[in-house]
Amino acid sequence: MDGKTYDVIIIGGAPAGLTAAIYTCRRALKTLIITKDIGGQAALTAEIENYPGVDLIDGFSLMQKFKKGAENFGAEILTNEAIGIEKEKSLFKVKTKDKEFKTKTVILSFGLVTRELAVPGEEELKNKGVSYCATCDGPLFKDKIVAVVGGGNSALEAAEYLSNICQKIYLIHRRDEFRGESVLVDKVKKMDNIEMVLNSQVKEIKGENAVKSILIEEKSGNRKEINVDGIFIEIGYEAKTGFVKDLVELDEKGQIKVDKDCRTSAKGIFAAGDVTDVNYKQLVISAGQGATAALSAAKYIQENI
Ligand code: NAP
Repeated sequence: MDGKTYDVIIIGGAPAGLTAAIYTCRRALKTLIITKDIGGQAALTAEIENYPGVDLIDGFSLMQKFKKGAENFGAEILTNEAIGIEKEKSLFKVKTKDKEFKTKTVILSFGLVTRELAVPGEEELKNKGVSYCATCDGPLFKDKIVAVVGGGNSALEAAEYLSNICQKIYLIHRRDEFRGESVLVDKVKKMDNIEMVLNSQVKEIKGENAVKSILIEEKSGNRKEINVDGIFIEIGYEAKTGFVKDLVELDEKGQIKVDKDCRTSAKGIFAAGDVTDVNYKQLVISAGQGATAALSAAKYIQENI
């Protein structure tokens, strides 16, 4: 693989990257996807019911279909982590820990990483009751009492999913209004075993070798302890763009700035999906941006190389 020069290297094999590959391959561009996993956050979603044209489906299965689509059109997929990109004359050199690849263009589509609460006990109790993925770890908490933290779609979906597994769920949100879609809020409100704990923040996660309780502070300043066996932290995502910060312009959140054609500030480098400064982080938008980035990369190659 190392000796070839690719037309396009796509970093990140989730909705944006896999869609980009379908489009670049259909333009007969030699395409390599370097990715840590397939599907990213979307693959961990229990139920996807807002992807047009597809009936209710789990995220893993939908992402496998995206992958199959990319492979069917000829994309190569390498499971690895890209750790650096360097400009080399008219080409780019993309580095993993043990390999280097040459390419005419790069599409950055490596998504976001989960945000942490940053409270005492969180780090120590990771994988001992502190989780960031309800679909991955939920089954470990069958008939247990858990907390879900957050007020966006991720927290609402996690609470709904866990309500079918756990005995009781405390949904803890720092405001009294939810950021997530009202259809999800309504579903969660109807669940008998979900108790809303609003205007409240988690201040500490307690336990020796396993989570035993959480310390909550209400807006009024009142503090109370709730006994739980686990806590699911679903408070959004952050961009981990350090390795490209000297190449492309980032916004104040560290997300990659793109124009309407998914071009970054660097010629020949494009970006798509949640890692960009796009306002709405949605699977269908990521797929659309992936297609846009791919077509822009194809145009760039045609006009410049
Ligand atoms: P999000 O929409 O950014 O919401 C994060 C939530 O966590 C907010 O309610 C926020 O509170 C809260 N929060 C943030 N930092 C906190 C902290 N330090 N302590 C306590 N609470 C904190 O994140 P998300 O729910 O993970 O969703 C991310 C993106 O993916 C969104 O664009 C979402 O629409 C999308 N998504 C879509 C679907 C779907 O379409 N079905 C499913 C999952 C995710 P405030 O509200 O007070 O800021």
